[in-house]
Amino acid sequence: ISSYEITKASIDRIGKTEPKLDAFLTLTAESALEKAKMVDEKRAKGEALSDIAGVPMSIKDNICTKGINTTCASKILKDFVPPYNATVVDMLNAADAVLVGKTNLDEFAMGGSTENSAFKITKNPWDTTRVPGGSSGGSAVSVASGQVFYSLGSDTGGSVRQPASFNGIVGLKPTYGRVSRYGLVAFASSLDQVGIFTRDTEDCAMVLSHIAGKDKMDGTSVDAPVADYAIEVQKDSKGMKVGVPKELLGEGIDPVIRQSIIDSVQKLEQAGIQWEEISMPHLTHNVETYYIIAPSEASSNLARYDGIKYGYRTGDFETLEQLYKRTRSEGFGPEVKRRIMMGTYTLSAGYYDAYYKKALQVRTLIKNDFMDAFSKYDAIITPTVPNTAFKIGEKINDPLSMYLEDLCTIPVNMAGLPAVSIPCGFDSNGMPIGMQIIGKHFDEAKILRIARAFE
Ligand code: GLN
Repeated sequence: ISSYEITKASIDRIGKTEPKLDAFLTLTAESALEKAKMVDEKRAKGEALSDIAGVPMSIKDNICTKGINTTCASKILKDFVPPYNATVVDMLNAADAVLVGKTNLDEFAMGGSTENSAFKITKNPWDTTRVPGGSSGGSAVSVASGQVFYSLGSDTGGSVRQPASFNGIVGLKPTYGRVSRYGLVAFASSLDQVGIFTRDTEDCAMVLSHIAGKDKMDGTSVDAPVADYAIEVQKDSKGMKVGVPKELLGEGIDPVIRQSIIDSVQKLEQAGIQWEEISMPHLTHNVETYYIIAPSEASSNLARYDGIKYGYRTGDFETLEQLYKRTRSEGFGPEVKRRIMMGTYTLSAGYYDAYYKKALQVRTLIKNDFMDAFSKYDAIITPTVPNTAFKIGEKINDPLSMYLEDLCTIPVNMAGLPAVSIPCGFDSNGMPIGMQIIGKHFDEAKILRIARAFE
């Protein structure tokens, strides 16, 4: 099959399924078909092609694409067209990837249901009355529904792993620094990382090899050797030992999910992987810690949207103060405003020590729990999410219950670790359950190997 044919098939499928799913904010069908043709010509000439050349994929709309709208699903960036590509986009282009469109998300990646998009609500393909998770909901749905073969998202507190879990697919958050963040619109810079959605772990490994590595445009990217993950993932995982923290199997976790995780680790035993229940006492404090650190960083990162430099500007102002106030009140949605207010509060003089500084101290304790565990275990296994996909509208007026969905994914970002979510079962409504495998820094190959042993 030619790249043109496969890209055409992807676009046709999008045409058929989008009216029900609403995964995309922008489609780039024309340039995708041109690109695919070009790849076919290269192939006909006998040129060497990468393993992802000519394969249709999508990218979350908070990753900058030169000449193509990058809105962050926000009114404030509705008409923003970046003059440059994110490094990951350049890297995929260099491998002749075919971009068919930009996917929907919670505004500025803040949320866990994609309901916070200023433009549309994406639906879960397993049951369109349910949310796809978020914030990378559009990316997850585009892969789960067969619209594309893979997608890039971003993960600050679970935004790749949680929607992967809700959609029954694979979602990888690499180590902080493994993949360049240059051109990923900043939410909480010390936690943000670009991640990958695929239908299986081998595809995930393949894509990771193309986007991993040091980037001189991102000072936090790390110059660690990039493995050939596609080969690494084939290796055996016999003899490995994993820990299952009891703190993430108890209170707050749906019993059906708890049972599914226990059944799954027992299945791993058949692949020669031993497991033990362990204790990581500080994991229980992670939600409150994250919801201080992430909004603090967000309030600072989002100060740049002032109606002057770029993005939306109010039409109605006389003074500079009115310009700022009206631009931001008209441009940002309610969840983004809530985060800016929380973050501004926790960073303000007088509260900084009590909230922000304290949160950083707890962050260190969470990290230490992981380091202790990794001195004995190759990986840590938890549920990805405490619940399966909920109904659209169910939690939208209850931010606290929405935040609690992040219980198992947040600690991984706090410690900067890699983690992958893989499908491991279904609940009584037939909705997918996800299992999270967490590794040491730069141990992507190992967690993907464990994941593959399970497939
Ligand atoms: N649900 C979390 C939040 O709302 C995580 C979001 C993300 O990872 N971008 O902040």
